[in-house]
Amino acid sequence: MSGRGRLVVVSGPSGVGKDTVLRALFALDPKLRYSVSYTTRTPRPGETDGVSYSFVSEPAFQRMIDAGEFLEWATVHGNLYGTSLARVRECLERGEDVVLKIDVQGAAQLRGRVPEAIFIFLLPPSVEELKERLRSRDTEDVESLATREADAVRELAEAERYDHQVVNDQVERAAREILAVVAASRGGNVGEEGR
Ligand code: 5GP
Repeated sequence: MSGRGRLVVVSGPSGVGKDTVLRALFALDPKLRYSVSYTTRTPRPGETDGVSYSFVSEPAFQRMIDAGEFLEWATVHGNLYGTSLARVRECLERGEDVVLKIDVQGAAQLRGRVPEAIFIFLLPPSVEELKERLRSRDTEDVESLATREADAVRELAEAERYDHQVVNDQVERAAREILAVVAASRGGNVGEEGR
């Protein structure tokens, strides 16, 4: 994984507002690139193939695993998700910073593989607020909500393994904080960010 661009890994529990904060982040800095992941999950209403995710079948995903096409991949909430090595590499080699929205298992794989990446964990203002946000989303059925609540609490315990913890108390503020972290890493001390 060489090249001049930086890899920015953003994790956070379901319902913390990752998509909203990332939208604000890309509005603040249109030069940042988003890595569209592959998933076997069914598209939700309003999601476009190739924009939100590339939606693929399980056999197709498995073939990509076998061919070594993923930078990382994991099973999240019962579905497969993976980051395309080729897509990320292309951006980095063009000198572009790439943002990955991945879960804690994927981030753990990257700590070994791309130690110079910037690892950011998005936190809710409180656990109660997070559960409330999860319940108010109408995209999940009851079983999936229970899984996501349990996963969310487990994911929160991983926050301290990240270089930076950003609280999503206000979308715009959180996005600016992430941008500041990325900008600071561009300024130098690249070698010091590894772990
Ligand atoms: P959702 O299905 O709600 O869009 O995403 C569910 C979870 O999958 C989120 O925590 C998200 O960060 C994670 N995720 C999305 N894409 C990837 C990926 O490419 N790799 C990994 N490891 N996790 C991903």
